[in-house]
Amino acid sequence: MHLPDLNIAKKREKRENIYIELKEDIKKVFTNKKYFLRTYGCQMNVHDSEEIRSYLERLGLEETLNIEEANVIVLNTCAIRENARDKVIGFLGKCHYLKKNHNDVFIVLAGCMCEQPDFVKLIQEKYSFVDLLIGTHNIQDLPHLLTTKFKEQEIEVYSESDEVIEGIQYKRDSKYTAWINIMYGCDKFCTYCIVPYTRGRERSRQKDKIIKEVEELIKEGYKEVTLLGQNVNAYGKDIGEKFSDLLESVAKTGIERIRFVTSHPWNFTDEMIDVISKYKNIMPYIHLPIQSGSNEILKRMNRRYTKEEYLELFHKIKEKIPNVSITTDIIVGFPNETREDFEETLDVVKTCEFDGAYTFIFSPREGTPAARMEDKVSMEEKEKRLYELNELVNYYSNKSNQKLLNKEVEVLVLGESEKDNTKVYGYTDTMKLVNIEGDNIKDTIGKIIKVKITDAKSFSLDGVVVK
Ligand code: SF4
Repeated sequence: MHLPDLNIAKKREKRENIYIELKEDIKKVFTNKKYFLRTYGCQMNVHDSEEIRSYLERLGLEETLNIEEANVIVLNTCAIRENARDKVIGFLGKCHYLKKNHNDVFIVLAGCMCEQPDFVKLIQEKYSFVDLLIGTHNIQDLPHLLTTKFKEQEIEVYSESDEVIEGIQYKRDSKYTAWINIMYGCDKFCTYCIVPYTRGRERSRQKDKIIKEVEELIKEGYKEVTLLGQNVNAYGKDIGEKFSDLLESVAKTGIERIRFVTSHPWNFTDEMIDVISKYKNIMPYIHLPIQSGSNEILKRMNRRYTKEEYLELFHKIKEKIPNVSITTDIIVGFPNETREDFEETLDVVKTCEFDGAYTFIFSPREGTPAARMEDKVSMEEKEKRLYELNELVNYYSNKSNQKLLNKEVEVLVLGESEKDNTKVYGYTDTMKLVNIEGDNIKDTIGKIIKVKITDAKSFSLDGVVVK
């Protein structure tokens, strides 16, 4: 079947809006067709899926949560998380079954894994029923590729460009809080991390385009934006801008809440601290990964700071930003981490009393320097260390939550609580999850309300609406 080209990108040369104009015969191709989208991994991937969803729906496809009735299946993969590859490969078994019994199904693999040559080779050799692999740099080409390849048998691998494209449209998951990619990629090359290889070098979006996006979101009724980047505070280096200036400009738009993730300690400037403490709509919540408390390990991780430098920054932030909450990431069992190295990490946790921490056992990523490092620490020892660390982290996270007991806090209510649909849930300015009860409680969804905290646990709070 011959499919005429889709007139997809009228303004493509200017890297402006990805514009989709459907010709009548293309419309027919996708009429009554459905897509199933599964997302793995980090927030960056969740946001990429909002973009993928927008393209598919503009082509005329309708989303289904039942994979059996899908004509297009998209798996948006992630290379960072442990076992991610096993999960994707496992899921491909189901896709293969569907493909054999339902010839009309078109299978797309997207995301970070498609930037890993060994994964691409594996798919080409062993899973050739996959129709299209599309890397993180080329999501914008999905409508065109899907349209032209819909009926072809050959596997198509697509991963080329490093351009920054403005004006992307998203089908956002929430009507109240939105993610905004402000930059792509990372230049840090931490030795354990695959991101610089899968998402490329740092590329920043234009400041005025970001501000325009925020202004449009305000008009649509959004209350909160989260500026997103693998290394968000390195924003602007490639285009002569500074993250602190961008943050200030976003604050001046008047949007009610602003957050940003993930900050690298090395790029955290005094100007950023000044701006955060000056504007009430920049939330007092900072995610500041330390990864290890041992200088030797930090050096081998290529983190570019020492424990002392991290602590100096930590205390400066605590001192200058009132009621700030700080969370972190910690890796245990980095190759040849000694008991002494690990104890230095425990010491930092005791000093900082983090509001929360994401903790992981080191797991090697093929193609990274750390994957080639000698490692004599047994998995049993690593698991013991993780357990010990988690006990400590949970103790401080509980302690931090207990401080809010009987206090009144402001919460942006996002929806019904998952475990109890008579309640709603939302987040405080310091990013603490609160489950809330009260009269006509569903009417508060999408609003910022005052809540009195009635119970505090390690990972969430309970509260009632303050009349
Ligand atoms: S800064 Fe973050 S994204 Fe960049 S290489 Fe290090 S861990 Fe990976």
